Amino acid sequence: MIFFIGFRELFYQIWLLLFFCLIGCQQAKVSSNLVSEEDLKQLRKIDVHAHYKYPRSYLPNFFKRWNMKAMLVDVAIEQGDSIVKNFDNYLTHYELLPELFYLCTTFTAKGIDSPDYIDKTIAQLKSNIAQGARMVKVWKNFGMVTKDSKGNYIQIDDQRLNPIWDFLVENKITVLAHIADPEQAWRPLEDPNNPHYNYYKSNPQYHAYNFPEIPSYETIIGARDQWVKNNPDLKIIAAHILSMSNDIDAVAQRLEAYPNLSVELGARFGDLAMQDSEKVRIFFDKYQDRILFGTDYGTGEAEYQKSSEALLAEAKNLEERYQLLFDYLTKQDSMVLRKQQTKGLALSKSVLEKIFSKNYLKFLTRSN
Ligand SMILES: [Zn+2]
Repeated sequence: MIFFIGFRELFYQIWLLLFFCLIGCQQAKVSSNLVSEEDLKQLRKIDVHAHYKYPRSYLPNFFKRWNMKAMLVDVAIEQGDSIVKNFDNYLTHYELLPELFYLCTTFTAKGIDSPDYIDKTIAQLKSNIAQGARMVKVWKNFGMVTKDSKGNYIQIDDQRLNPIWDFLVENKITVLAHIADPEQAWRPLEDPNNPHYNYYKSNPQYHAYNFPEIPSYETIIGARDQWVKNNPDLKIIAAHILSMSNDIDAVAQRLEAYPNLSVELGARFGDLAMQDSEKVRIFFDKYQDRILFGTDYGTGEAEYQKSSEALLAEAKNLEERYQLLFDYLTKQDSMVLRKQQTKGLALSKSVLEKIFSKNYLKFLTRSN
């Protein structure tokens, strides 16, 4: 009996020892895989979703210090009968610093019923590509804003748009697709801690909940999925983690279903931070070839319109915001991101290399 109890205790102690050893080894493995600050600085980075519409004197050094380039992404915003675009601003900035930037143009579905809509749109894209555009953005005005001559909202899977997708496939141009918004846009604003609360509070015009005539989240997401499926040869980078960043299982489902799809992270780190870090880390490891770093950061007004103090504050703020995203991806510490208490993902150097640049560079060699 004494021998039996002793044996059981011994067995229990050995089991405990093995258990803690295993946990310790896992921890040590993660710690030893962490990239150093110096490694992080040197990793080649491409912010594939940025809106640096206006130059800044501090930007070239800033980008060089982080070994980073950025994609300048134009957006077409409908205001009444007119469309506001900023392609010329982005083109000027790109031509000023071609070593720092890539260029992305855009188009809308406004006038889709005009007999010359397709010819005109393709001519505009051809001209922008000749000027240096490597990518084309489609924005949430597909689905949420633009209507055809019958007054119906034009969804992204509308068959009338097919010649444009065929043109982009032929010319090996990737599409950056921001279709729909986070599900929160269709829900009442109740939780001030939700990562999107402030945006919809200060931009009520985009809070779809206030506009029942806007098609539902499910309708727009359904059309988006159908479009991705209908165009298997079109390379699509879904901006903002597919507008379903609050549910990485739903994102994984789409990545499994559609081989032509990748996702971009811009402005959705708060949603990731709400989910279990270990689960998110596994998602990043599993889809490391399909995830691209992006921020949605930019400059909204010309440098001369800002005081030197405001410019200093802007540069400091930008540095802090990039640093926080890099911390989340590279460290394993506890941190607060968009009001969410979370833990860093501690991604390995090889995963980071892909997310930061290699995945995008693959698109470039496949395209132009
Ligand atoms: Zn954007």
